[in-house]
Amino acid sequence: MKNTDETHDPARKSWVETANHSASDFPIQNLPLGIFSYNGTTAPRFGIAIGDCILDVAAAADIGLLTGLAAEAADAARDGTLNRLFALGRAPLRELRKQVAMLLDRDGPARDRIESLRSQILPEMSACRMHLPTAVGNYTDFYAGIHHAIAAGSLLTPENPLPANYKWVPIAYHGRASSVRASGNAVRRPMGQRPPLAAGGSPSYGPCERLDFELEMGFYVGPGNAQGEPISITDASKHIVGFSLLNDWSARDIQRWEMFPLGPFLAKNFATTVSPWVVTADALEPFRVPAMARPDSDPQPLNYLLDETDQRQGGIDVSLSVQICTGEMLAQGSAPVEILESNAMHLYWTSAQMLTHHASGGCNLVPGDLIGTGTISGPKPSQLSSMLELTFGGTKPVALPNGEQRAFLQDGDEITFSGKCHREGFVSIGFGTCSGRITR
Ligand code: MN
Repeated sequence: MKNTDETHDPARKSWVETANHSASDFPIQNLPLGIFSYNGTTAPRFGIAIGDCILDVAAAADIGLLTGLAAEAADAARDGTLNRLFALGRAPLRELRKQVAMLLDRDGPARDRIESLRSQILPEMSACRMHLPTAVGNYTDFYAGIHHAIAAGSLLTPENPLPANYKWVPIAYHGRASSVRASGNAVRRPMGQRPPLAAGGSPSYGPCERLDFELEMGFYVGPGNAQGEPISITDASKHIVGFSLLNDWSARDIQRWEMFPLGPFLAKNFATTVSPWVVTADALEPFRVPAMARPDSDPQPLNYLLDETDQRQGGIDVSLSVQICTGEMLAQGSAPVEILESNAMHLYWTSAQMLTHHASGGCNLVPGDLIGTGTISGPKPSQLSSMLELTFGGTKPVALPNGEQRAFLQDGDEITFSGKCHREGFVSIGFGTCSGRITR
């Protein structure tokens, strides 16, 4: 691997023992970035996940454990968001990653001293509350999962499942930044206009009856661009600092009625949930894969979206899973059950192509902006990554082990996404969870 270094060394272990468990999402090779507060009572602050603990980065900096660019990185996040840190680009993040890995390394040079400071710098995750990583100024959601576009398209617009422009232009809509929430926040069932029951009839106003999730990944903009100055595809990766899981909650009945001709509006702007940890682009280097192979019959991307390096390593191999825990399961004490799995490799456009396309007309991207990939369905029926697709428009409900069935989501249902990267010769890393429970 070209872009790996000592921070990806699989032999490395942490003195934080839980980080060394093979099931941990947060080994020393991951070190994702987030914003947390102690018991939800202190002001939000910058943290890095390690095992079942969080390194309090500002506290570590205050003690003098970080130097140079890493100390500057810590200072940039003192306002309790990662926007200013992301604006600095990937170099300070890389230096912070190297220094933090050294601090947490079981064989690090100052291990004894640092471990003795544990109570000042390393709270347990269970005693902390997670917040949004950035103050999201702008949120855009793409439609880059081609298997989703075909499956959802054949249900929503059967006469034209895959739009003629799909293989030429990365399609997106501008989402709503104000309703993005960190994992764990409840999602209130939206009210809205539901379509007429028969052609020519009137719509009705009431609670959404076809509430759904969309399994997606999100990524965060690092340095932005000046208005009018596009970002070349060659430079795009310098502007993408990290990734998380994203649930684009969707009200299918409202969507079907409102979305023509200008796209989704209230069907999607009531809530978006993200996992709180930003897995850095650096941590993901070992898990890069080629962009999705295009059949010979598909057009090549236009030149402004075509870069040899991006084609070779612009994809990411992230195994994704969706679990449900209904209100009844919760009351019974039953464990959540997996209803589908997919992989981020099934994206037709790379994150670099999405970012470059977004800025190509002159739109200025801003540090901390959130970009969603679109629903990541795979080619198999078990990889259809929304209830709309999985249940064929609600006609074939999913059977749950306790005898319940689900076509769309009911009040009390909790949907949880998880994501994991595996590769031979490297330590697996994960994304934590992206979870939300439906309330009335
Ligand atoms: Mn979406």
